[in-house]
Amino acid sequence: MSRIFNFSAGPAMLPLEVLEEVQRELLDCQKSGMSILEMSHRAPVYDKVNAEAEADIKELLGLNEDWCVLFLGGGASLQFSMVPMNFLTEGKIGAYVDTSSFSAKAVKEAEKVGAAVTLFSSKEQKYNRVPRLDEIKLPANAAYLHITGNNTIEGTEYHNYPDTGKIPLIADLSSDILSKPIPTEKFSFIYAGAQKNIGPGGVVVVIARKDFVKGRNKNLPTMLNYEVHMDNKSLYNTPPVFGVYIVGLVAKWLKKQGGLAVMQERNISKAKLIYDVIDKHLDFYRGFAEKDSRSYMNITFGLPSEELEAKFVLEATAGGLDGLKGHRSVGGLRASVYNAMPRAGCEKLAEFMENFYLANR
Ligand SMILES: *Cc1c(COP(=O)(O)O)cnc(C)c1O
Repeated sequence: MSRIFNFSAGPAMLPLEVLEEVQRELLDCQKSGMSILEMSHRAPVYDKVNAEAEADIKELLGLNEDWCVLFLGGGASLQFSMVPMNFLTEGKIGAYVDTSSFSAKAVKEAEKVGAAVTLFSSKEQKYNRVPRLDEIKLPANAAYLHITGNNTIEGTEYHNYPDTGKIPLIADLSSDILSKPIPTEKFSFIYAGAQKNIGPGGVVVVIARKDFVKGRNKNLPTMLNYEVHMDNKSLYNTPPVFGVYIVGLVAKWLKKQGGLAVMQERNISKAKLIYDVIDKHLDFYRGFAEKDSRSYMNITFGLPSEELEAKFVLEATAGGLDGLKGHRSVGGLRASVYNAMPRAGCEKLAEFMENFYLANR
């Protein structure tokens, strides 16, 4: 077996140990005599999978009983609609920070539900940075402030989160969830598609304060009401069972690595290997993000010409470094180095970049 280093932005690499465990258990899950793919979501084995995944995520983030963890379908994109449907109350406005095309999509959905305002946008600079905290001026009648923690396409990330006082902070952490510790006391509601950092496509992890979710609009369609999912422990209907199972295994793997502080340290030093090459050859590798907004998950850069970029992708792929083409909307190159990307992958990419520079400068 020769596994390549997959720098794809998502779905992305999963830890090899997790994939091996899935393989070992695929035909007979926890001595049940059947596959996780075949069993009832009401079966005791699945109950345990669901409960442990929730408990392990809470443990990793240091959350107490005031919080719930939900596993939902519909992708992070459905949360763009569900968030305002649940939390954008009459007479208030949804406040948004626009740092990426995903943030813009969230705003667009909120506008369909109620009043929404964009407090800051880096769109004019093609989303090359996140705001300084003093650039966000919250209106008093905000129902919430919504931010995108890591901007997957553009390669920027918040390294500090705003203090919003009494106004609830909501974050789309799809592409940096569980990659570092976060000050959860600042947040009321977090959501993340699992397919970047913690699982396969098809499952969304919601991490929410119970009192924030409780008692919202009872007239919402049942499946779009977070409270229904909270009251039913994500088992109102058939959940994305296989995805939840893998998210649970990844959470256990993260605990085994030493938790989120260890992951953060590793992720920063992995990303640094690549940023260092970019900074060494500034005339050749053109880092996209402003330095203090740089993401430790998605590293975006360009080369002097599109021809060189195409050549880079071709030669990297031939060398076992895959998925480096930038998002179709922005072009250039992007190396996604989530939790599961081994350090060896980043070392190999950094070495490839150094050699590519020498051969093509
Ligand atoms: C990938 C991504 C999304 C969209 O996720 P889907 O699960 O495909 O709907 C939303 N926000 C961010 C930050 C993302 O990285």
